[in-house]
Amino acid sequence: KKSSLSEVKIAIIGAPGVGKSALAVRFLTKRYIGEYDHQSETRYKHEILVDGEPVLFEICDTCPKLETDMPLSDTIIWADGFILVYSITDRGSFNYIKLVKQYIIDVRQQHYDKTGTTNSSGTFAPMVLLGNKGDMVHLRQVATEEGEILSKDFDCYFSEVAAADQVSEVAEAFLELCREVHISRRK
Ligand code: GDP
Ligand code: MG
Repeated sequence: KKSSLSEVKIAIIGAPGVGKSALAVRFLTKRYIGEYDHQSETRYKHEILVDGEPVLFEICDTCPKLETDMPLSDTIIWADGFILVYSITDRGSFNYIKLVKQYIIDVRQQHYDKTGTTNSSGTFAPMVLLGNKGDMVHLRQVATEEGEILSKDFDCYFSEVAAADQVSEVAEAFLELCREVHISRRK
């Protein structure tokens, strides 16, 4: 029996400079490239096995210019799941996550109220929380416990990672989100 290909759309969300592009490239290529010059959202497609089943990831690397910019509504409605990223070296980026999480919920609910439709994961939005730049402990502004507490509040997976020097830990966050999306589709 051949199983059909699952498609999972993921948006990477976070303040400017937290390492969204570095995480996307790490997951897609297993490599780390220090600098990116993206002026707008970039989308990628990438097929891999998740728990033995093929999954086509569609990844949107969002590109806010300011710490006050929220993601595009179209992207929020498009995505099946969200990687919420802050930098452990940037307190402001942690505060950004608290705002953007509620914004995502509100935009999806408003879209549902207006149109009566949702994408495959419903008004509910599967999320994972990542504290990036875990290699920069000497510049830490956000304690590990704070990330843990926030993830309990969000009821989601949490990990401190470093796009700069980790491969499997970064991939695991994407796989975990994929599993959450699959669970939400069965509900
Ligand atoms: P974005 O604006 O969220 O897409 O952030 P980028 O991916 O462009 O990264 C912003 C800067 O942080 C770049 O100079 C990256 O090289 C750097 N960076 C990204 N991830 C890490 C990391 O895990 N550790 C360290 N030390 N630097 C990182
Ligand atoms: Mg970027």
